Formats: sequence, C-alpha cells, structure tokens
Amino acid sequence: MSGERPFLNVHQAKAQPSATYRMMDRVASRRASGATVISLSAGEPDFDTPAHVREAAIAAIHAGHTRYTQVAGMRALREAVAEKFRTENGLEVGWQDTIVCSGGKQVIYNALAATLNEGDEVIVPAPYWVSYPEMVQMVGATPVIVSCGAASGFKLTPRALREAITPRTRWLILNSPSNPTGAVYTREELAALAGVLLDHPHVHVLADDIYEHLIFDGAAFHTIAAVEPRLQARTLTMNGVSKAYAMTGWRIGFATGPRWLLDAMEKLQGQQTSAACSISQYAALAALSGPKDFVHDTRAVFERRRDRMVASLNATPGLSCATPGGAFYAFASCEGLIGRTSAAGVKLDSDEDVAVALLNEAGVAVVHGSAFGLGPFIRIAYALDDASLERACEAIRRFCVSVR
Ligand code: PLP
Repeated sequence: MSGERPFLNVHQAKAQPSATYRMMDRVASRRASGATVISLSAGEPDFDTPAHVREAAIAAIHAGHTRYTQVAGMRALREAVAEKFRTENGLEVGWQDTIVCSGGKQVIYNALAATLNEGDEVIVPAPYWVSYPEMVQMVGATPVIVSCGAASGFKLTPRALREAITPRTRWLILNSPSNPTGAVYTREELAALAGVLLDHPHVHVLADDIYEHLIFDGAAFHTIAAVEPRLQARTLTMNGVSKAYAMTGWRIGFATGPRWLLDAMEKLQGQQTSAACSISQYAALAALSGPKDFVHDTRAVFERRRDRMVASLNATPGLSCATPGGAFYAFASCEGLIGRTSAAGVKLDSDEDVAVALLNEAGVAVVHGSAFGLGPFIRIAYALDDASLERACEAIRRFCVSVR
C-alpha cells in the first residue's frame, strides 16, 4: 500500500529468515504444483510422540490443568527437570535452579536477550545451527563466527577458541551432538575447551544439549559443566523434549544455570509469553519421568539409518561424507559437483545451487551447508522412514551421476 511508513527494530530487521524454513516453503510450493518431493530438510524426528505422553496431555486437559502456570514452569516439571540434570548429566541441581520455556529455542533467545548489550560478542563455532547468529544479532550483539572445518571434525579447537576470545566476549555457544554436522564432543575435547575458559572468567557458556540422546556407536554424552564443575556457575545447560521424545510441536525446552541468569530470563518470559503451555508441561513431565524405551529404540533406528545414508552418500560421485556421531543429520561435502552442470542444464556454482537443483530435478529437499556457515556442503536430515530414505538415496545418486 502506498503511503506506508514501516518502522522496524533495526536489529530484528537485520535478521534472516531461517534457511531451514525457507527450504520447507520451497518444498510446500513444489508439492502444491503437483511435484513429488522427499524432504530431508526438516530438523524433527518422524516418529509420533510416545503414547503415554499423549495420554498424559489428554488427562491434563480432562483434569482442568488449563490455566497459567508459574512463569518458570510448574513445580512438578521443574523437579523432574532437576532430576534429569542430576541423574543423566551429573549436575548438582535443585528445582529452583531450572527454568522451563516454550521450546529450547526460547531458552536460548531469552538467555541472549536477557544478557547481551550492543558491542557484546558471542562465539559461534561454524557450522552452526542457523538460529544462533541470527538471535545474537536480533538482540543487538555481534556473533563471532569461528570456522571449524572437516579437519577438526567440525569441532572447535582450544586454539581457535583462545584466538576468538576478546574482552567483549560474553558467551560461547557449544552444541553437541551438533546440528548440522552430527559432530559429538568427547569428554577430553570438552575438558580442553574448559581449560581455555578457566583462563577467561568473563566468558559464559551456552551448552545446547538438545540432541543429547541421539548419540551413536555406544559413545557417552558429556556436557561441559559436568566435565569441568568450576564452569557450572557460568554455564547455561539447555535441553528439551523436542528431539529425544519426538515432541517438536509441544514446545517445551528447559535449562539449568546460575540463579541471576535464570531470574533475568524469568523476568523476560513473564512479560513475553508468561509460561509454557500448561498441557505441554504435563506432557513433558510424563516424558521425563516415564519409561525411556522410546529414547533407546529411536536411537537404534537413527543409527541404522545413519549407516545406510552415509554409505550411500560415499558411494555417490561428487559427494563425500564423514560418519557423524550423533543427531540425525549427515553433512556431506558436495565439492565434487561445484562448477559442473546438472542434467537440466543448471550451472552448479554453489552448494545452494546444488540444493535447489536437487529439489527441482531429483525431488529431494536438503539444506545447503553455507546456510549453516560452511560450504560447499549439503545437510541431509535422515529422520524419515526407510523406504523414503532408500528412494531419496537413489534419486540423489541418479542426479549426481547425470551431472556433467
Ligand atoms: N538447538 C538446536 C541445535 C536445534 O537443532 C533445535 C531445533 O531444531 C533447537 C535447539 C530448538 O529446539 P526446540 O525449540 O524445538 O526445543
């Protein structure tokens, strides 16, 4: 409409929409035009939420638990969250040391928004989850991207960390297992990073452990505040039910950290969303305090799919992929396709070109690696049934074989 006078917050206006959602939109519009698309772009398990969790939510509705809860989450859930951090992670946590938010995403955003000022820096190892740098910018601070290539297993090294720290550094964001690479930090690697952090007491750590339970090859999960207890007072350890319990739509995330930080996050949340959805909180309570078979069973399924996917990618000309240790993503190099031309005559100058051509010509949706801060790669989410994955692998192979 002419005569409109838009007024936008300068920081928020700078933010980019999520590349993952952009690909999901492209998929939706291809499907709307009648094309068949296998989507390997979404970051969510393909399983249904476990039945006992769904039943708990229905019971909560019938019991009339349909009102606001305390801003930081209802007491029973916070106790279950504290118990989770104690027993699964070895962190000394009481229920008052926890907060429940509307998804892990809100935990991270609230932590950043509650603490950062203009000029503050946040170290974000790349490849990163798309939302970290955007969130940092949205609250007016500066993301400091540290490139972590295939040579270091896509992981931050102590040396790179030391070089990235400045007097303005407020946070280091660590994500293990990682989205988009599936990389998992070992206890020794976390201890080495902690050694650097002990020399820099002004740097806080945001440990994003959302893929904690999706870890393969019998490896153990470690979180930095447990590896180095002297860091616990300046670490926000964040987690949630989205990935482990196939509950992405329920929007429950939680964290433990120092009280001053949790208080600041609670104040922000109280003026923003109040508390997380009461029904979802009951569902999350059932997930955390109920049987864990679902978590173990789905991990085994994902591990099998990972093996199949990685083997197929490495047997495809133009692609190569290291074996990820966790999550449900394969991060494959597509360097062998760059500079070449697809069967439909599209020049593949970047990994985004590869992702778009794969969608248009092979009917397979992936997300380009440069959206996560490192190209030329493609991220393949293998959270899909076996038959669809087989068809996707074959379509990717055919596409790559026909590239000239
Ligand atoms: N952290 C990472 C690395 C993720 O991949 C996601 C979701 O994709 C989240 C956090 C947020 O999860 P949620 O908000 O669904 O709890």
